[in-house]
Amino acid sequence: MKHPDTIQRGGRKMDRRDFFKTSFYLSALAMLQMTGIGCSRQSETAKSLLGLPPLPYPNDALSPYISSRTIEFHYGKHHQAYADNTRKLIAGTKLEKLPLKDIVQKSYGIKELVPVYNNAAQLFNHDFYWQCMKQNGGGKPQGKLLQAIGQSFGSFDAFVKIFSESAAAQFGSGWTWLVKDGNQLKVVNTGNADTPIAMGWAPLLTVDVWEHAYYLDYQNRRADYIRAFMDHLVNWEFVDKNLELDG
Ligand code: FE
Repeated sequence: MKHPDTIQRGGRKMDRRDFFKTSFYLSALAMLQMTGIGCSRQSETAKSLLGLPPLPYPNDALSPYISSRTIEFHYGKHHQAYADNTRKLIAGTKLEKLPLKDIVQKSYGIKELVPVYNNAAQLFNHDFYWQCMKQNGGGKPQGKLLQAIGQSFGSFDAFVKIFSESAAAQFGSGWTWLVKDGNQLKVVNTGNADTPIAMGWAPLLTVDVWEHAYYLDYQNRRADYIRAFMDHLVNWEFVDKNLELDG
C-alpha cells in the first residue's frame, strides 16, 4: 500500500519534499510562460479560481482617515499584485484548484513554497483587512462580542489599549490581530505576510501596519493611523460575524 506522503511519478518514487520541489519548478516554468507571448489556457483556469476580491466600499468611503489615493495604491497595486502572483505561482500545480485558505495552510513552513505562502497569505490578509473597516465605523461592539472582549481583556478600553500598543510596537512590516484561540480572545502580531490561519487561530479583526497602509496619509505617524482605525473605521459587525462563525 502506498504511503500517503509518497507520490509515484514516471516510475520513480518521489518523497513529499521531491514532489513539492518539482511542483515549484513547474510553477516557475508556468510563470515564465505566462509572462511571455500568448497566455496559456492554464493561466485562464487559475484566474477563474482566485482573483482580487471586490473592495466592499468605494475608494473614498474611508476618507479622511484613509484616503482614496491610499486605497488606489494599497488595493489597486499591492493587493492586486498579491492576487496576480498567487495565481501565477500555483498555475499547473496541485494547489491550483484549492480554496485560498487551504493554499495558505498547505504552503506554510515549506521552504520551496515560501513565495506561494507569502503571496497567498497576503491575499487573504488584505481581503480580511478591507472587511474589518467601514464608513462611519469605530465605536464599541455590542452583546456577546463586548462580553467576550471584557472576559479576555478586563474591559473594552483595556483591549483597545493592548491592541493599539501592540500595533504601534510591531517592528517593521506586519499585522496586528484580535484572534480566538480556543475559548480565549487574544491580541497577536504577525510579521510580514504571516497570518493566524496558518497558526491555527481564528482571526476576528486585523490592522495592516505595513507602511504602504498609512504612509501617504500619515507618513511616519503609525500611532495616529491606528487611533483613526480604532475610533472611526472598525466594522464591529464583521468582527461579531467572525466570532459567531467560530462558535
Ligand atoms: Fe497591505
